[in-house]
Amino acid sequence: MIFDILTLFPEYFSEHRRHGVVGRAAAKGLIELNTHNLRDYTTDKHRTTDDTPYGGGHGMVMKVEPVVRALEALKEGGPAKVALTTPQGVSFDQGLASDLSQLPRLIIVCGRYEGYDERIRAFADYEISIGDYVLSGGEAAALVITDAVARLVPGVLGEPGSAESDSFSAGLLEYPQYTRPEDFRGMRVPDVLLSGNHAEIERWRRHEGLRRTFQRRPDLLESAQLTEEDRAFLESIKRAGQKT
Ligand code: SAH
Repeated sequence: MIFDILTLFPEYFSEHRRHGVVGRAAAKGLIELNTHNLRDYTTDKHRTTDDTPYGGGHGMVMKVEPVVRALEALKEGGPAKVALTTPQGVSFDQGLASDLSQLPRLIIVCGRYEGYDERIRAFADYEISIGDYVLSGGEAAALVITDAVARLVPGVLGEPGSAESDSFSAGLLEYPQYTRPEDFRGMRVPDVLLSGNHAEIERWRRHEGLRRTFQRRPDLLESAQLTEEDRAFLESIKRAGQKT
């Protein structure tokens, strides 16, 4: 999958494309993470990308021409979908990350200043927010989006299945994980995980994933795919909770 990032700060992404899962995916050629400086698509001597808002008010607005010129130039290299980063967009989540990971190419526009000239929106396929807070620029959002999407591109995570057990992928939070030592200051790894009984371990993990979701993010249970056994287990935790 190809990511093209349109930004005023291309250097923001130089470490991102070198490290960890994203770095390995790029080294293996499974993803490409290209950056494009918005200033290269300006035509005036000062390479202006912002201007004052019509109607007055504080701050500056991102100009429409450089962004659209850049998008059109990038699309000459082949078809691509366009995502604007904006706090007014749909909330980014694992489902959207999974949908985006199916695309051959995604252009991500990083806003700055007080936001976009409204007419830029007409050139976008997606408007994405990474959460209900305001960042000073879209670069941090583009880091989040490319990271979450890249790890879902087929072949990027070494072992098939490692993305499936992650939090959210089945609509639930992930079960608790442990590694050596077995006993840390009296805090012991649950016996079942040392038992070697894979069926029991799977059952325990499913239950603990459900318990954790119930305790921390009960809203997720409304849309999670649950079996009869899952529902029975959740009922049992609720009953136990009422007793205490
Ligand atoms: N005044 C604008 C916010 C501008 S913030 C408004 O109220 O909508 C400047 C830029 O930071 C935005 O254009 C966007 O690219 C990025 N940004 C800020 N918060 C974001 C968020 N929660 N998710 C994604 N991008 C965000």
